Amino acid sequence: MILTSGNGKKLLIDCGSDINKSLPELYQVSDIDAIYISHLHGDHMGGLEWFGFYNYFANNKRVINLYAHESIADRLWEALKVTMEVIHLSKKNIMSDYFNVIKVKDSFVFDDIDLKLIKVPHIHSLPKEDTVYSYGLFIRDIECIITSYITTDMSLWKDPKDVNSIGLLEYKRAMERANLVFHDGYPGTGVDVHPALSDLAKYGDEFKHKMLIYHCETSEKNEKMVKDLGFAGLMKKNTLLVFNNSGKVIITQG
Ligand SMILES: [Zn+2]
Repeated sequence: MILTSGNGKKLLIDCGSDINKSLPELYQVSDIDAIYISHLHGDHMGGLEWFGFYNYFANNKRVINLYAHESIADRLWEALKVTMEVIHLSKKNIMSDYFNVIKVKDSFVFDDIDLKLIKVPHIHSLPKEDTVYSYGLFIRDIECIITSYITTDMSLWKDPKDVNSIGLLEYKRAMERANLVFHDGYPGTGVDVHPALSDLAKYGDEFKHKMLIYHCETSEKNEKMVKDLGFAGLMKKNTLLVFNNSGKVIITQG
């Protein structure tokens, strides 16, 4: 997903392993001003190698900001160095040769947009310390007219007590405050790393009417299911959403 500021600056939210094919359909690498990584799965960060090499070799060693929660920022290079460290005869490259990593604690500002990180459980595990988290984004413009929330990847609580954990309270609050929610969802059952649409459908209409579902293959069948369950719609590739001054979506192209 690409977020464009009021001044035209572009933040790429997650950089999956298919970015070398998906980005060039609409943009060039040089159009992207910064990247945010929500968690360390390949479909969210696996394209950083291609992106970094592209800027290094084809864009005159252009270095852009890379935002990530502090708990995952250092681990990005652990994953990337395997292929990105040794590329010269006598000098080893380091992360800053490709990206200027900015470790985020709670929130950051990108041009005229405020982004607050919302920590959500993605893969539950026992012991609980091994649980994998993802950091979604609550997005608002400086004047707070446009508010939206992207969950990235999450799973719903298994234990009713978890509803009261800090992360899920923030999730609930973000769901309430956002005018538009981009929510991951899975059409079937038995997958614990994304919520089943049938579980999300238990949310009230005030939530469902502003929820656009993604991470769900786009097919007529899924599109119908999403609509029938009362959600706002299913996100399709290359959709452009434009907000007017009152925070309403005025143009959509798919
Ligand atoms: Zn994931």
